[in-house]
Amino acid sequence: MRPGGAALLPQLVLSSASVAFTGRAAGDMGHGAAVAGTAVADVAERRRGVVDLPWTWLRQVHGASVVRVAGPGHQAGAVADAAVTAGAGCALAVLTADCAPVALASAEGVIGMAHAGWRGLVAGVLEATVSEMRALGATEIEAVIGPCIRPGCYEFGIDDLDVVAGRMGAAVRATTTAGRPALDLPAAVRAALAAAGVGPAAVADVGVCTACSADHFSWRARREPQRQAAVIWR
Ligand SMILES: [Zn+2]
Repeated sequence: MRPGGAALLPQLVLSSASVAFTGRAAGDMGHGAAVAGTAVADVAERRRGVVDLPWTWLRQVHGASVVRVAGPGHQAGAVADAAVTAGAGCALAVLTADCAPVALASAEGVIGMAHAGWRGLVAGVLEATVSEMRALGATEIEAVIGPCIRPGCYEFGIDDLDVVAGRMGAAVRATTTAGRPALDLPAAVRAALAAAGVGPAAVADVGVCTACSADHFSWRARREPQRQAAVIWR
């Protein structure tokens, strides 16, 4: 894995795919209706600026549904939280503010992109994504965790924290910088991936906290309706 691409659009190269995580500088990558003054045509232009392929974006619902993408643009707008494909020319995207985007790729050219918030993680979205990739022929899978809220900024109710820890293990329990109970979302992602057979050595993390990064949108910290994109393609 090596960094590359333009400074505004940090881009990673996995064994068989390219990944981009956008931030504030690239503008709102959302559906165009959520933000006053954001035109659908502007969003389309911004998306082309990241990767000029038809995007399979999703209507994300914090569930565990995974769509199989048969060709470029297939399943665009589907109600799901992850997409996988073995096809070339496909760009799989999720839109996030604080949830974790998780990009996955295998040497066989099978790629996936998942939207992982705590509810989706508890529902099993990452295990389901890895399972669908294996069904398409993936063996060794590597993953990258994109910009998301980090434990220092993610105060979390004890009852919900118990639910996540019951599913993912005690490593998800953390403390905010103010000393309050917190969820370690990246730790929950790593635990789910490990349970699916994608071990820690195969998981990279860009290490950005959306809540305290000036370069990213955050609903939790600033009630911003805009979304950054995570895209994988090959
Ligand atoms: Zn933070």
